[in-house]
Amino acid sequence: MSELYPSYAALRDQLLSKSVTCESVVSAYLKKIEASSSLNAFLAVFHEQALERARALDKKLASGERVGKLFGLPMAIKDNIAVKGERLTCASRILSNFTSIYNATAVERLLAEDAIILGKTNMDEFAMGSSNENSYFGAVKNPLDDTLVPGGSSGGSAAAVAADCALVALGSDTGGSVRQPASFCNIVGLKPTYGRVSRYGLVAFGSSFDQIGILSKTVADAALVLEVIAGEDTYDSTSSNHAVPAYSQALSFKNVRIGLPKEFFTSALDKDISDVVHSKLNVLTSKGAELIEVSLPHSEYALATYYILATAEASSNLSRFDGARYGYRADGVKDLTEMYVRSRSEGFGAEVKRRIMLGTYVLSAGYYDAYYKKAQQVRRLIREDYLKAFKEVDVIAGPTSPFPPFKLGSKIDDPLQMYLSDIYTVPMNLAGVPALSVPAGFGSSNLPVGIQYVSNLFDESTLFAVANAI
Ligand code: GLN
Repeated sequence: MSELYPSYAALRDQLLSKSVTCESVVSAYLKKIEASSSLNAFLAVFHEQALERARALDKKLASGERVGKLFGLPMAIKDNIAVKGERLTCASRILSNFTSIYNATAVERLLAEDAIILGKTNMDEFAMGSSNENSYFGAVKNPLDDTLVPGGSSGGSAAAVAADCALVALGSDTGGSVRQPASFCNIVGLKPTYGRVSRYGLVAFGSSFDQIGILSKTVADAALVLEVIAGEDTYDSTSSNHAVPAYSQALSFKNVRIGLPKEFFTSALDKDISDVVHSKLNVLTSKGAELIEVSLPHSEYALATYYILATAEASSNLSRFDGARYGYRADGVKDLTEMYVRSRSEGFGAEVKRRIMLGTYVLSAGYYDAYYKKAQQVRRLIREDYLKAFKEVDVIAGPTSPFPPFKLGSKIDDPLQMYLSDIYTVPMNLAGVPALSVPAGFGSSNLPVGIQYVSNLFDESTLFAVANAI
């Protein structure tokens, strides 16, 4: 099937000139969703609600009323983000029957600008994973080749956009879960600065890392959607009151200094990935960017630091799922302890249990100082590396993933191999800085490669400008 719309700008022109209606657009996307059901990208599709909303929006336009910035934009939402009245499963058995009673702030803001939500997307359970194989509802397949993983944990959102089942999707990024699947599915993926987008209504995994992110086909679409969802929210005390610029209006750059961390480009990096990334960097230099070698000396500790801190936070955040208050409760238990133990043992999948145990261990008396406290100190050093580098350069560039998309089933039994997927993405969550993955081309085996741009805190504008140039 041919592509429906290459970007929201293209769709918006047609909607506003009335050459198509929201209803016909939504019908076309719903058909694509049906035709692509073997990808397993969606956990819920809102057929009736989406069509009803589309008809209401068509009436709004016809009445001459002012329409929103995202008028008629067909979107998909990762299933760890709350949509009122709909299931919110986090792709976990423990929440398989849980319905949200409110909208996430990001969802509220999308709806206020007239976006249309088509459905909820599959993911790794509680956003833990890099391949979307850790879902209680089954793995997601990569639309470019259905024997490959789509990346994770926002694999359903990435596959949905890549397969043209939605024009833009929301995901969440705690350690790379928007950027890595974007690179595996050959689309754009943004992790904003920590605090840029409210986390209200995003189910917590690692609260000091989690950010809602955007998956789209174009940089301009990601910029526009960020403009809508960013900004302070009284429901999330970690949301920032930093002003929200008109990201979508500033997509060109002059004299950008791009830093290439020597720790990212070592002989260990897959040659295809390195070649494709360098060819894109050459495009940028031809447009006037200056390339400068920089050093992020604590990079080698990032993965270990992340897997200590993120599991510690997860073990604490996930303690609320106890069979008493939310979701799944085991049958036929004889006392309270057995209810907790069996509900959690049966409700969580293997990877989530592994993380809860690891996190509980690193927080336990006697080990706390050696692991958790130490990791907090190293996190500070990593953050300082980045902030120091941004005194010399405007943007840091490198690969998004150390390897191209891999075969379904090939890493699932080896957690350490799977964790290595995140080597280039977790440092930005540790540092809190924004990062954007954009398609850079295809390697020799014809697999997609993503290039990642990173900028200083709250400087998403520069990321968009640089990325838009390629
Ligand atoms: N792959 C990483 C992990 O498993 C990142 C997950 C995420 O960003 N949600 O923790």
